Amino acid sequence: MSSNITECELEHRLLAEVASRRQAFLQALQALDLELALQFQQLPADEWADHGALSAWPQLQPHITQLKQLDAALCQQLLGLYGLCSDCEAELSYELLYQDPCRQRCAQCELKHLNSQHTSWTL
Ligand SMILES: [Zn+2]
Repeated sequence: MSSNITECELEHRLLAEVASRRQAFLQALQALDLELALQFQQLPADEWADHGALSAWPQLQPHITQLKQLDAALCQQLLGLYGLCSDCEAELSYELLYQDPCRQRCAQCELKHLNSQHTSWTL
C-alpha cells in the first residue's frame, strides 16, 4: 500500500488535533465552571492538565488524559522523537500517526501495554 501522507501533513494533523482537543476541553470546563474556564484561557495550555483545580471535576478526566497525550506528543516533537514508539523506539507509520497523532506505541507494544494494564487491574 502506498502512502501519500507527508511529514508536513502529519504536523498539521497534530496541530489540528491539539487545537480541537483543547477546544473540547475548554467547552466541557465552561459547562461546569465558567469562571475557571476563563482563568484557564489565560494560562499556557501545557499547564492545563496538571492544574489542581481540576480535581473538583472528575468527569473531566477523559479530557485531561487527552491533554496529557497532547503534551507528550508535542514534547516528543520538540525533542525530535515524535512518531517513535515510546517502548521499543520503532518508527510508527504515517498512517497510524495520521489516524491518531498522539499515538505513543507501535501495534505490538500497544498490545503488550494493554495486556499489562489488564493484568494489574485483576490483581
Ligand atoms: Zn514498540
